Order: sequence, then structure tokens, then C-alpha cells
Amino acid sequence: MLSFDAELRHRLDAIRGQGLLRELRPVDSPQGTRIQVGRQTLLNFSSNDYLGLANDPLPREAAIRAVDKFGAGSGASRLICGSLAPHQELEETLARFKGTEAALSFSSGYATAMGTICALLGKNDIIILDKLVHACMVDAARLSGAKIRVFAHNDPDDLEDKLKWADTAQNGGQILVATESIFSMDGDAAPLREIAALKEKYGAWLMVDEAHATGLYGKHRRGLAEELGLNDKIEIQMGTLGKALGASGGYISGSRTLIDFLVNRARSFIFSTAPVPAAAAAAQAAILLVQSAEGRVRQELLWSRVGEFQSQIANRKSQIPGAIIPMIIGDENQAVQAAAKLREQNIFVPAIRYPTVARGKARLRVTLTASHSSEDVSELIRALKTFGLGL
Ligand SMILES: *Cc1c(COP(=O)(O)O)cnc(C)c1O
Repeated sequence: MLSFDAELRHRLDAIRGQGLLRELRPVDSPQGTRIQVGRQTLLNFSSNDYLGLANDPLPREAAIRAVDKFGAGSGASRLICGSLAPHQELEETLARFKGTEAALSFSSGYATAMGTICALLGKNDIIILDKLVHACMVDAARLSGAKIRVFAHNDPDDLEDKLKWADTAQNGGQILVATESIFSMDGDAAPLREIAALKEKYGAWLMVDEAHATGLYGKHRRGLAEELGLNDKIEIQMGTLGKALGASGGYISGSRTLIDFLVNRARSFIFSTAPVPAAAAAAQAAILLVQSAEGRVRQELLWSRVGEFQSQIANRKSQIPGAIIPMIIGDENQAVQAAAKLREQNIFVPAIRYPTVARGKARLRVTLTASHSSEDVSELIRALKTFGLGL
């Protein structure tokens, strides 16, 4: 018998042997286009801070005011010690922003999916997931006990096959179709119109995770559902507060009834201490900024940078622009080496590996933000070309 630590060291060695070891890299600065790692300043293409809000003065000051007025901590779960004003105001702002009756915030996107899917589904129900949905939806589907089916990525025909099966197998249970709108590691867009039409045809419910679309798409920057005119076709709209909104947390927006139900049944909401007031206040300030003229300016800046990148790098062209640009390398060790070479050039692009993506599909994941300058993008492209990447 190995000792506890020896056993875990053995397991870690196996992870390392497959090129899958992960280590934390301390950063000594706020998130931004330049981050400080020890003595090195890196040009940062790794964060989901698409609109440059994580360190923007408006959300920062809102967070500071919330600390001054409401303190550092939140005391308990909102159902136990009372629902602090910053959370109430965030949810009112969120519902107005999303154009839905109501909204509920959670401590993270992960907790949002867990709480919501497990509240809505049980073992008599069926959940049909896109092959590439985020781990939080997969984990939630498993924990819910519902029967799980997976459809080929962004493939409405395969989804229809699964819906046909579910239609005969449902036996009085519900069917939930769940997908992302913009996929976190591939950056491509789901065919939401086709998916929404299919869920109507088969009487299923639809949940769409807009983690990487909230703040970026649509006239009011609500997300891809708005861009495609689907706001009232999606029963459960999910998103996060930690990506384009620059704070942290997750949310569900939808009908008042859905929100009332989740307050009663979403265990990750009920049994978890409320996020700190500063997080709620920062997210609310970010939403107000996103809705303002400044939000539009940043949205346009972001798409300009994406356009510059795509015009110079041979890459998948899509009708819907995306700030996430994967450069598939395949082999895990090679992806890590490519990222290390870029870091030597003071450029930070993360290597993404299993289990975040499938084995043999390791990649560099470039994210562009509204804060990057044209020169930043040119510098990235120069470095990528030096290493023969992305050509
Ligand atoms: C990041 C992410 C989440 C999880 O959100 P957190 O707030 O980071 O827990 C959920 N879904 C998708 C698609 C994500 O990219």
C-alpha cells in the first residue's frame, strides 16, 4: 500500500506523463492586456475579459462603494440572512438588460448550471446536450439523474434524431435541450434558430448558456439569442458575470415563475453563501456600462481587432465574428511547448488540453479583447508566424 501522498504523486506522474499536468501561474497585476508574471510583463491573450471591464474604473468604484456600504462579506445564504440590496439591484438590472421578466444570480456559472439543471430535471426526464457543452452542464446533467443523450456538435439533424428517440422514450417526463451559444473553446456559434425550431416541434425545453456571448452580440448586447431574434424562444437563458462583464458569478434570466421556482429548488443557490456585495455591485455597474454608448464602442473595438486578426491569419471565416480563436495543434505536449515559446516572446496564450477539450485536440486558445490595440494584434501575429502557427 502506498501512503496517501505517494499514491497521489503516482497519479500526478501519470498526468504529467500524458502532457496534461496543470500548474498555477501567479500573476501580480490586475487582468488586462499586459499582465505581470514575476519580473516578466506578458501581452495577454488568455482572459475572457472581452470588453476590458475586469479592471475598469466604473465597476471598480462600484465594488468599493459596495464594500463601504455593505461590508466585505454577505453573511449567509440569501434565504437565511436576507437578500442584500446589491444582489436585488443586480437582478433587476439583469432582467432589464436581458429583456426578461426576472433574473437570478449565482456565485458562479458552474453553480448556475448545477443548480438550475438539477432543479428542473429528475430521473424521469431526458437531457440532450451538444457534444461540446461546458463541463458544468455535463456534470449537472449527470447529477440530475436524467437520461443523457449527446448530439453531434452544432448538428441540428443529429439533434432531431435524438429528439425523435426522446419523443418515444419520454414516458411523461420532460425533455431539455441544452447548448452554448458561442462555444468556449472553439469560439463557434450554435445554430440557435434551427435548435429553437426543433425544440418547439418536439415540445422540449431549451437552455442556452451565453457565457461567451453576453455583452457581445445583439443590438442591446444581450447575447446571441438577441442577435438572432430568439429572446422569447428560450425558456432558460444562462450566462456568466465573469467574462465580458468582468466580475464573477452566473445568472439565469427568464420568466418570473422560473426564477421563483429556482429560489425554491436550486440547491447551489439555496445552500451557498451569497456572493460578496462587491461582486454583485461590480457586475451591475458592468451591465450598465455595456448597455451604454460606451458598451457599443467597446463592442465595435472588439470586432475591429477580431477582423484585423482574421485578415492576417489563415483561419476559419464565419458569418458570426468571435473573440475566441482556437489554433488546433493536436498533441498535448506540442501545445504546451508552443505556449512556452510564445511566453519567451512575452506573449501569453494558454495551451488548452484534455479534459477541457478532447484528447488529441489540444490547442492554443487566443482571446482578443476591446482593450487590445492594433499593434498588440500585430505583435501576436508576428510571433505566431515566427513559429509557423496559425498558417
Ligand atoms: C466559464 C463558463 C462557465 C462557468 O462559469 P464560471 O462563472 O466561471 O463558473 C459556464 N459555461 C461556460 C460556457 C463557460 O465558459
